[in-house]
Amino acid sequence: MDQMIYLDNAATTKCAPEAVKAMMPYFSEYYGNPSSIYGLGAESKKAVSGARKIIAESLHADQTEIYFTAGGSESDNWALIAAAEAYGEKGKHIITSRIEHHAVLHTCEYLQKRGFRVTYVGVDENGILKLDELEKAIRPDTILISVMYANNEIGTIQPIAQIGELAKKHGILFHTDAVQAYGHVPIDVEELHIDMLSASGHKIYGPKGIGFLYIRKGVKIRSLLHGGAQERRRRAGTENVPGIVGFGAAVQEAFANMEERGEKEKQLRDYLISEIETQIPHCRLNGDRKRRLPGSVNFSFRFIEGESLLIMLDMKKICASSGSACTSGSLDPSHVLLAIGLPHEIAHGSLRLTLSYENTKEEIDCVVEAVKEIVEKLRNMSPLYEDYVKKNGKE
Ligand SMILES: *Cc1c(COP(=O)(O)O)cnc(C)c1O
Repeated sequence: MDQMIYLDNAATTKCAPEAVKAMMPYFSEYYGNPSSIYGLGAESKKAVSGARKIIAESLHADQTEIYFTAGGSESDNWALIAAAEAYGEKGKHIITSRIEHHAVLHTCEYLQKRGFRVTYVGVDENGILKLDELEKAIRPDTILISVMYANNEIGTIQPIAQIGELAKKHGILFHTDAVQAYGHVPIDVEELHIDMLSASGHKIYGPKGIGFLYIRKGVKIRSLLHGGAQERRRRAGTENVPGIVGFGAAVQEAFANMEERGEKEKQLRDYLISEIETQIPHCRLNGDRKRRLPGSVNFSFRFIEGESLLIMLDMKKICASSGSACTSGSLDPSHVLLAIGLPHEIAHGSLRLTLSYENTKEEIDCVVEAVKEIVEKLRNMSPLYEDYVKKNGKE
């Protein structure tokens, strides 16, 4: 197959044609500032409120509870820092999990330097939060619980309803980073007792650089950016009108087709998992088999380096991702894989394949073939594998 195969949809997605089409007029036709009083500005304002309405309805929230941001990282930073500031008088203790995205973990570290205490709750071997550990961590001065809806590396979906219940029972704010889950699974902020929720456009076939933070009415939260009166005075700056419109269109598509897309992804996902498990020895599926995102697959292969696997897949025009913190240029294994109990050497040999509804069975067959061939090649160069085979024989 000469075509590129894209299996890195947890990193980012292709912008949907519906989103691109919806955005186009807002670059050079309806370019007015939504804050202006003339007609051109009013067009932009109308478009922004249209997108806000679509998003609010998708979560069973009110339009006044949706605040546009520049993406998931900004939403996570805002939720944590501003809640810490607004509720710092009441207490200085925050609870999160060990498998959060760095946008949450690094923000927690920042808050720790400013006098906040953070408890990092562990997960089981499938990546599911230990609820008993969470409950034990709650103290009188706990002001915030932040636990992601679904994990970006291993796809595990968290027991959000139970976490929301606990937070509500103890009168603690509950924030969830739903960047990977939003648009893929139904979310009802009322039913789940979610006080704040982060989402991002480019993870659900919308444009990059746009996201939102849902903030429940009544939650005290400090402004993120100071300046103009945009976003109910909480996030200053002229709105990213094309981005917001594109995000709204992507959300509309995602929710209208959620079941159909999800079913297709699940079938491909389960086929990919079973093909890898039957064709490649010494592999381990990471993440929960049932409670996982429809398009998420993560495997560890013993005796190999994930980075080498990725480079060789790239030579075959297959886009995938590994479990290393490659963005920082370091080769530290992923904190998520370590948190589910993988030893360093096994975490190093990990591969994340994240599907979209556009992938095909032919692509999956092609990828399984390529992974199998590369893993064999890499193992044949591995002294660890040689030792293993000497002791145990092949397989
Ligand atoms: C991608 C991602 C983010 C960051 O979102 P951006 O829009 O890229 O800033 C945050 N959390 C999770 C779980 C993610 O997957």
